[in-house]
Amino acid sequence: MATVNLPLSRAEALALDAGDVLAPLRHEFLLPEGVVYLDGNSLGPLTRRAAERVAEVVSAEWGRGLIRSWNLHGWIDLPRRVGDAIAPLIGAAPGEVVVADSTSVNLFKLLSGALALRPGRRVILSEEENFPSDLYMAQGLAALLGGEVRLRLVPRWELPAALDHQVAVVLLTHVDFRTGEMHDMAAVSEAAHRAGALALWDLAHSAGAVPVDLAGSGADFAVGCGYKYLNGGPGAPSFLWVPRRLQSQARSPLWGWLGHAEPFAFDTAYRPAAGIEGWQCGTPGILGLVSLECGVAVLAAAGMASLRRKSLALSELLLGLAERDCRGFGLALASPRDGDRRGSQVSFRHREAYAVCQALIARGVIGDFRAPDLVRFGLCPAFLTFADIWDAVGHLREVLATGAWNRQEFRVREVVT
Ligand SMILES: *Cc1c(COP(=O)(O)O)cnc(C)c1O
Repeated sequence: MATVNLPLSRAEALALDAGDVLAPLRHEFLLPEGVVYLDGNSLGPLTRRAAERVAEVVSAEWGRGLIRSWNLHGWIDLPRRVGDAIAPLIGAAPGEVVVADSTSVNLFKLLSGALALRPGRRVILSEEENFPSDLYMAQGLAALLGGEVRLRLVPRWELPAALDHQVAVVLLTHVDFRTGEMHDMAAVSEAAHRAGALALWDLAHSAGAVPVDLAGSGADFAVGCGYKYLNGGPGAPSFLWVPRRLQSQARSPLWGWLGHAEPFAFDTAYRPAAGIEGWQCGTPGILGLVSLECGVAVLAAAGMASLRRKSLALSELLLGLAERDCRGFGLALASPRDGDRRGSQVSFRHREAYAVCQALIARGVIGDFRAPDLVRFGLCPAFLTFADIWDAVGHLREVLATGAWNRQEFRVREVVT
């Protein structure tokens, strides 16, 4: 586990930055002055390359190239190309990842594909703490199948016992969005296989956040989010992974023309493309794909191993400072204290979590609130500095110690929290 000697002054935090090999990466991001951005786990910040590339694609490729750009500028290959760029971050091989649709839609496609591989088994197994949209998609699919299949939800510790011969697929989010607690992907996948089930992993809080080894962990399917740690921009498309060994067996239930073997033959009958291309559906949003490609490139250049080292060091610093300086203010750690069991975020419970978050945001420290009582800090090592963490905990201490959160304006709930 990473250890950091707690700095005693801001100057000492700056000294940690001076010794940080990843420090230059911050210049790849366009972050506003005076902001400590602890929300890259919800919406990754704008990269310099994306700002330039999207402007260029809009004016040159869309503006002048017009429809010719599908061929001329390789737009049609982007879903595969960006998928191949994501692959090394998650332990996947080239040709196993494609970028398409949203995480929710991709979950639906993969769940359906997985169920078809386990005919006769009627249960999708997940945990109560899973991200609601994942559970909604499973419920929607079960309803569509007319009660043939159902979603079984158990608390995390009951998962092993709930894995019986009825379970077709285990659907889990690798890193919990509330607490950052990380599943042991290899152990859970193996337990699923022992029970004859498949393992489908949601990497929304893992891809670009922690090293993932899908192939080495025995996972069967995976999806992930493009706009969180991968910095693809608001609403950027998601990715999905189907390993080669399953590509000839599993099939998407959404038979769109871009998943067809020959979209431009305009056949009446659907024939799926053989490889990962068969998991595409309709025409992809090129601007989101372009900005995602830029966001992924920044992380790929650094490599997940060094990003993880810094993520753990930043988390240790935040935890150490909070334990030292924010005692007695009603803050309770909601994340595992052990870095090996935690993703790239740290969450605390507080009775007035919403107002505390708003008071921090008013001071330029942007984290987020998760109902009912969580203050969540995303620690993205590509652009955060040790001085950022020093400053953030300083503000947190002041907000708690002075009761600065206790104002009506900080209690007004916005639509998006
Ligand atoms: C963010 C997130 C999603 C988001 O799904 P969208 O379809 O992109 O809105 C899904 N699952 C998990 C676990 C997430 O964290």
